Amino acid sequence: MDKQQMRLRFAPSPTGPFHIGGARSALFNWLIARKYGGKLVLRIEDTDLERSSRQSEENIKEALKWLGISWDEGIDVGGEYGPYRQTERLTLYSQYTTQLLENDQAYYCYCSEEELEVERQQQMTKGETPHYSGRCRHLSEGERSQLEMEGRKPVVRFRVPENQEIVINDIVRGTVTFESNGIGDFVIVKSDGIPVYNYAVVLDDALMKITHVIRAEEHLSNTPRQVLIYQALGLTTPVFGHISLILGADRSKMSKRHGATAVEQYRNRGYLPEAVVNFLALLGWSPTGDQEIFSVDELIGAFSMERLAKNPAVFDIDKLNWLNAHYIRKASPDSILELALPHLVEAGFVKIPISSEERVWLTSVVATVQEYISYAAQVVEHAAIKRY
Ligand code: GLU
Repeated sequence: MDKQQMRLRFAPSPTGPFHIGGARSALFNWLIARKYGGKLVLRIEDTDLERSSRQSEENIKEALKWLGISWDEGIDVGGEYGPYRQTERLTLYSQYTTQLLENDQAYYCYCSEEELEVERQQQMTKGETPHYSGRCRHLSEGERSQLEMEGRKPVVRFRVPENQEIVINDIVRGTVTFESNGIGDFVIVKSDGIPVYNYAVVLDDALMKITHVIRAEEHLSNTPRQVLIYQALGLTTPVFGHISLILGADRSKMSKRHGATAVEQYRNRGYLPEAVVNFLALLGWSPTGDQEIFSVDELIGAFSMERLAKNPAVFDIDKLNWLNAHYIRKASPDSILELALPHLVEAGFVKIPISSEERVWLTSVVATVQEYISYAAQVVEHAAIKRY
């Protein structure tokens, strides 16, 4: 490891419930930062204006805090390289766009959605992979002003260099090579002036001096585009590590079909953060020995980038239940009662506020059943039997 301090980031898009996969990425980055004495940045990638919301951002921060994942820089805490919300960085991005346009590394494209669709269809009929044909690649000034006069609002496209090999030395996947020819000039700024993910992410990672980009495998296919932008702007490429996909029990990509995918759902059912952290750490990282139960400190000690797994990780709910049962047994009956209470209220056992007699009774119920339950909501099933 070189002397430069590691800088990692977690960069969620606040577009919906905070997914277990996002929590796993955040955790891995946090563990690495803690392990190697680095810094973790929390950046909000909210350039999808329609789908992003402050409520989702709050939900992410809340879930991270619940899991005990803290960040050294980023939204709320600030830092040297802010602002940390992408919609507050638009002026910064536009400076780089101007540079790319001036150097002819990017160009304005006036093609309409309909025109692009026709092009796509034609390519598909010919058996080609759809890609931008380059129709606006060499427009003259005159052609441009004509199109502007028609009232067309351009996007900015990145001019992908031809015949280039893009080599990514991924710490998880090894050397992965892509051909620039298959990529096609891609949009970096939409017609409303908002940059797309692949562009903003590069500028932010570079400007925030991120040294290691550790993220989900599904972003591996985006990485060649990002590397081309780093190269065009003469920016230093970070180290990439694409951590394995999370699959459901049937080995297809984990989705709602497989059960709860949002961190909040586990929290609400009475899973404990220690168990969720322990479980997530084992999804795509393998310790050297047989140990499966890890405290946070043990995880920080044992975690290593070298042991990030290439193979997909299977989300095994039985294992999560087993781990959670372990931590539930160690917790105080009072604390488990707090988690079970909303479920007991919902099931009609008690009303809030509970009386002190009810508290005594329920605490004794919890103390008795604590040995047998996997998560706090299950107290309800047992309370039914214990009442009389
Ligand atoms: N905002 C992206 C996401 O949530 C981040 C991807 C990345 O880490 O580069 O998927």
